[in-house]
Amino acid sequence: MRELQVVVVVADGLGDRPVPELGMRTPLELADFSPVADLLARSSVGLWDPIEPGVRPGSDTAHLALFGVNPVSNYPGRGPFEALGAGASLRPGDVAFRGNFATVGEGMVVVDRRAGRFIPEAKQLVDYLNERLGTIDGVEVRLYHATEHRVAVVFRGENLSDAVSDTDPHVEGVKVPRCVPRSGDPAAVRTAEVVNKFTEVVHKLLEECPINAERRSRGLPPVNAVLLRGAGRMVRYPLITERQGISLAKAAAISATALVKGVCSLLGFEVYTPPGATGDVRSDLMSKAREAVDLYRKGYDLVYVHIKGTDSASHDGNPKLKVEVIERALRALAYVLDRVDLGSTVVAFLGDHTTPVTVRDHTSDPVPVMLYAPGVFPDGFRELSERVARRGSLGRLKNVELFGVLMDYARRSEKFGA
Ligand code: ZN
Ligand code: ZN
Repeated sequence: MRELQVVVVVADGLGDRPVPELGMRTPLELADFSPVADLLARSSVGLWDPIEPGVRPGSDTAHLALFGVNPVSNYPGRGPFEALGAGASLRPGDVAFRGNFATVGEGMVVVDRRAGRFIPEAKQLVDYLNERLGTIDGVEVRLYHATEHRVAVVFRGENLSDAVSDTDPHVEGVKVPRCVPRSGDPAAVRTAEVVNKFTEVVHKLLEECPINAERRSRGLPPVNAVLLRGAGRMVRYPLITERQGISLAKAAAISATALVKGVCSLLGFEVYTPPGATGDVRSDLMSKAREAVDLYRKGYDLVYVHIKGTDSASHDGNPKLKVEVIERALRALAYVLDRVDLGSTVVAFLGDHTTPVTVRDHTSDPVPVMLYAPGVFPDGFRELSERVARRGSLGRLKNVELFGVLMDYARRSEKFGA
């Protein structure tokens, strides 16, 4: 039997809870589903727990599960993923930390763990350090600016380990602790040495930095240390195109969000960011839809479209904006549906996790899913919401199960057994 193409559209943080401001309805319940209602009626709907019930997912762990990698047993910690989110490209074996710009006083005593938090020169300071740091004991060191005082620091070289302690004391008024190995592994010993040299060199460079002379002259705390925490060693993920028992030759992802682009690229997707895709609520979703159709016509087996604005509106606690972004996402989805062959395509529309506007953060609530495939049981719903999804025939799936179901409907999975 012929294999089907798969189109997956994720509106980040799509799911929600009843919102008082919306008369106890959810943004999905208020959104106009008419552009996709006909296909929705022919689809099966249900719920997906990205990790498992009760576990609050990050976008990184949710995307790993969505694409068939169980994040519970394959997650190296936040360090590497923070670095990806800050725009780093990582290789297996790289050790990454989350970091803070901080202010230290006499004897490396931490005065302010965030150096005032709002640091307009943060990006310049990162560039300044990257131009001067080079390598430490043969290990390449690179900083990436995340937000405010936050940075990610990537160490690249032979024999590095993430079994090392933090240099962030997590409290103020104490000395910056030395990084110590957490095991007798020579790689951990070596990594701790490199990290300690990093702390010293960075302090010296920042003390000499004209930006700090200027900050001091204005009465601002100097940014003169980088505190590290949460070491993680990037693992090698099985590429989506080389998965055991799954036949997918070419996969493409469309996103403007560094973290999602990073995860997809680690998993072997070709990553595209079309013009106008900005990764925020103003993103040109039709531009993404056109790119998706283009890639579909080029014969990609899996075309993935990521839309970030729904999550941004949720973190901002803005239900009306969330409704608006959902409606724009649905129009983009409709554009794609009108241009693919529904006789030979599997389509999924879902969130990567739930971000209720009332909570302004990710929760463990399951995510509504719409799944269309030739032969799927049509549930007949003409709109998709958290409530509707609870009555759908797809039931409640978790973690990598959804990927398995998608691959089965696409006739791309091997039989388990004879
Ligand atoms: Zn997300
Ligand atoms: Zn989020």
